[in-house]
Amino acid sequence: MYNPKNPPFKLKTLTPIWTGNIDRDSISAAETGVLGSLRWWYEGIVRSLDGYACDPTDDDVSKRCKFDSDAYEKAINCGENVDEAFKEGLKDVCAVCRLFGCTGLAKRFRIEIKGLKTLPLFFVTHQGVYATNGNWLFRIFGGQELGGQKKGKGMQTEFIFRNSTLWSSDPFDMSFLSIHGDEEKNLHILYYLLWVTTSLGALGAKSQNGFGQVKILNGLNNDMLESGKRYVQEEIQKSKKGENDEKHFNLNNFFSIIYEMKDPAPYEGVGWIVGRAPSNFDYRSYFIPCAFDIRYKSSTRNPFTSRGRDFGMRPFFKERLNSKITSDLFGSLGDSKSASKIHVSHLFKEAPNEKYYLKVWGYVPKTIGVDLKTVTTFLDEFIADKKGMFPGSKKVFEYNPKSVIG
Ligand SMILES: [Zn+2]
Repeated sequence: MYNPKNPPFKLKTLTPIWTGNIDRDSISAAETGVLGSLRWWYEGIVRSLDGYACDPTDDDVSKRCKFDSDAYEKAINCGENVDEAFKEGLKDVCAVCRLFGCTGLAKRFRIEIKGLKTLPLFFVTHQGVYATNGNWLFRIFGGQELGGQKKGKGMQTEFIFRNSTLWSSDPFDMSFLSIHGDEEKNLHILYYLLWVTTSLGALGAKSQNGFGQVKILNGLNNDMLESGKRYVQEEIQKSKKGENDEKHFNLNNFFSIIYEMKDPAPYEGVGWIVGRAPSNFDYRSYFIPCAFDIRYKSSTRNPFTSRGRDFGMRPFFKERLNSKITSDLFGSLGDSKSASKIHVSHLFKEAPNEKYYLKVWGYVPKTIGVDLKTVTTFLDEFIADKKGMFPGSKKVFEYNPKSVIG
């Protein structure tokens, strides 16, 4: 797919990319996951700019966008040229579907990823909660369904996953190819989306659970981003108008924060592995897959209560807010229908001898019953306070709407 006009981006995995598949199908599964995450971010950007973005997963099919092929044919029969007729067909299609496709309309581009290798799925959890967390992880991440195994009981349980993630310690390539015209517009929007997604969130599926932290090494410049931003505005102007549902992701009322962990990071040395890490791979030089502990349950320490084994972001919020708001923010464990609005990365490093980082991001809808400021204040206390999970960590990045959506 190499095109001298748009050479591939060089990227680097900071945490593994989720595929959910067994080995050989992994790359195409990852490409699908990347597509899904770029689309999700595009929806959030469009809504934050007062444009309309449909929910392509809406149970009510009539609410999803559809290319109007009758209007298209009618225009052709009336002697319109193909471009004009195509515009007729797009009348009820939102800005996002115009790029990512919808019923009757193919997506306008392809993604190709090269240079990633499979890495067995494994997690690190605190030894004090090894059996409980191991069982949850095995259940949530499809251990059983994909033919994994669980042997033994309690602290002696051995968990073996058969699914793989994707990873490379060397840079990998990602290319975009525009396939139905409007090349510059489509590509520049995609480049902008790639930048927003990787800087504020993560690529691919299961990003709420630590996967998909990726860094763009080269291939992207400011002109492309500015141009992408402009094209997004133009697309919004000419696309379908409508009311957005407050519950859907929107870059207003959004936060994304990166913390630098004070060394030595907790979990260095106290973690037990759920699954199997390759023996020749020193994963701690790159990442520690412990997002689950951070979100739900760890036993590193809990100075906030006298209970020893119930310290995690979710229980911490539950003590301060009610259960309903906490469930709305974090989703329900093991229930994919109730998606989490708060995403937590695994701990990751940018280079083997550097400090660990943690990225936390999320959307706090106005209707949820707690405001954004309160959520980020609680997060700060939970993570960096002297009684927090990673005391003394410092904020090194915080999302600023001006730099992203202008
Ligand atoms: Zn749409």
